[in-house]
Amino acid sequence: MRAVVVQQFGGPEVLKVEEVAKPDVGPNQVLVRVAAAGVNPVDVYKSTGHYARLPEVPYTPGSDGAGEIIAIGDGVKHVNVGDRVYLAGSITGTYAEYALCEAAQVHSLPDTITFPQGAAIFVPYATAYRALFQRAHAAPGEFVLVHGASGGVGIAAVQIARAAGLTVIGTAGTERGLQLVREQGAHYVLNHHEPDYLGQLQKLTYGLGVDVILEMLANVNLNKDLGVLAVGGRVVVIGSRGTVEIDPRLTMGRDASIHGMSLPNAQAHEMASIHAALIAGLENGTLRPVVGQEFPLDQAPAALEAVMEPGANGKIVLLP
Ligand code: NAP
Repeated sequence: MRAVVVQQFGGPEVLKVEEVAKPDVGPNQVLVRVAAAGVNPVDVYKSTGHYARLPEVPYTPGSDGAGEIIAIGDGVKHVNVGDRVYLAGSITGTYAEYALCEAAQVHSLPDTITFPQGAAIFVPYATAYRALFQRAHAAPGEFVLVHGASGGVGIAAVQIARAAGLTVIGTAGTERGLQLVREQGAHYVLNHHEPDYLGQLQKLTYGLGVDVILEMLANVNLNKDLGVLAVGGRVVVIGSRGTVEIDPRLTMGRDASIHGMSLPNAQAHEMASIHAALIAGLENGTLRPVVGQEFPLDQAPAALEAVMEPGANGKIVLLP
């Protein structure tokens, strides 16, 4: 089968399509014909060698994907050959024609969701859900600022928060991004490149500040975030690409807290709860993954470059 293989860490050029053996299924495993694979910033951190939990080379990248089950091993009960599924990780990597998965890594994909959309589910939606409910404990009626709402995680967060009854304020850096964030359900949109864009939050929140901030670029925004929180406010640091100086006093008067998060830290029971919530949202139409760009498998290097560029406006997916 064709698969992207990284033989050594480096720039996008290290992602090369090779012919490799199609995996065999073992007990409690399933083999999926990958129709689409999702590209995430973490795939770049790994392939460049800049990530805390690096895979051993050679390896095939990708944790997100969607496709059809073509074989199941002994002991697999919750899915069958022919089922449409989305992948939440795999054993062999999703940037390939086939991916071998633990049975627990495949989840039913509703018929209304296309395979490219299915490849846009796991990391973005699970991250957004965990940040909102398992880290920030967001509640209906609260104000949430999705700081970086036009990307994969941000769009997911806007849809999930809107469906849960929060008032959603989303930021983007381009007109197209702002339009997309509005279309995905944000009550208000702000441009994070405009001067004093956060000044408007006081008015939008009746002078109270926001209860929850989902932060995609903490090294730029964390100190600003602390200044616009409500009493009892929570910031969840989802993304950060450097260091930042903060004034801790900004947390004191507000009883505010800063929560880190890393999706792989979710326990099995938390992950099960995340998938149950996501599947319900996909079925009832409140969650609608947005695909921004599609690339053929052999253009994986271009897809990885694109995911690090501003203005992605939805997920980037590879079509094996
Ligand atoms: P993405 O699709 O590339 O989106 C990046 C987002 O950041 C876009 O909405 C972009 O907006 C926005 N942005 C750019 N400049 C900004 C600024 N000054 N202030 C606020 N937002 C700004 O990436 P993603 O997949 O959504 O992931 C977002 C971040 O979370 C990445 O750093 C990723 O590595 C991280 N992440 C972490 C976890 C975890 O477990 N902690 C899981 C998944 C992702 P414009 O392009 O419109 O300017």
